[in-house]
Amino acid sequence: MNTSTTLLNVNEIFYSLQGETTRTGFPSLFIRLAGCNLQCRWCDTAYAREGSPVTIARIIQKIEAYPMLNHITITGGEPLLQKETFVLLHLLCNKNYPLQLETNGSISLARVPQQVHKIVDVKTPSSGHHDAFNFSNIQYLQPHDEIKFVIADDNDYNYSKEFLQKYLAHVPCVVNFSPVWGVMEPQRLAEYILHDRLNVRLNIQLHKLLWHIEPKHF
Ligand code: SF4
Repeated sequence: MNTSTTLLNVNEIFYSLQGETTRTGFPSLFIRLAGCNLQCRWCDTAYAREGSPVTIARIIQKIEAYPMLNHITITGGEPLLQKETFVLLHLLCNKNYPLQLETNGSISLARVPQQVHKIVDVKTPSSGHHDAFNFSNIQYLQPHDEIKFVIADDNDYNYSKEFLQKYLAHVPCVVNFSPVWGVMEPQRLAEYILHDRLNVRLNIQLHKLLWHIEPKHF
């Protein structure tokens, strides 16, 4: 495929700290792809519905402008909606960039290269999309991947706990329970996790603690 003519619909490219998952606190170059197939109630990147076409060659150029770069996050929107995303993933894997992909869990992971560190959402009831999860994706989860539940209330917590016990008990990846910022008290979620002896990670959004918004761009 010719990277000078292959286009991706891109919302923004920026350098910042990764604010979520086990990579929290490490610098990363974020490539935010535009468009999403869901409309979650707690979405904090609704602006990512809009983008502009950028060639893959131009994206690679932008990446190479960061000579000390040691991590890239492909996010959205929903990055797997564009078939050209798979071209970018394969190219970056071939260049040995450590790569994290953030996806909403509704699109098949079958064509995502094995080296990619996948962060896969399971939508909870309060999001309005608890039926969006593509269950065939469970077979593609590896120990370096992570699942993320975004939890707004007790109903979401109980849903996530039951999902975990029913479908993820034998899946070796990290599971994140993430409180909705300003809605679910992190302390309350922490106490639920400890009370129920769940082997999950409390995922607090570092960028919101630091900047109260989306990651600050550098
Ligand atoms: S899947 Fe992600 S980007 Fe899409 S609406 Fe939901 S939270 Fe927003």
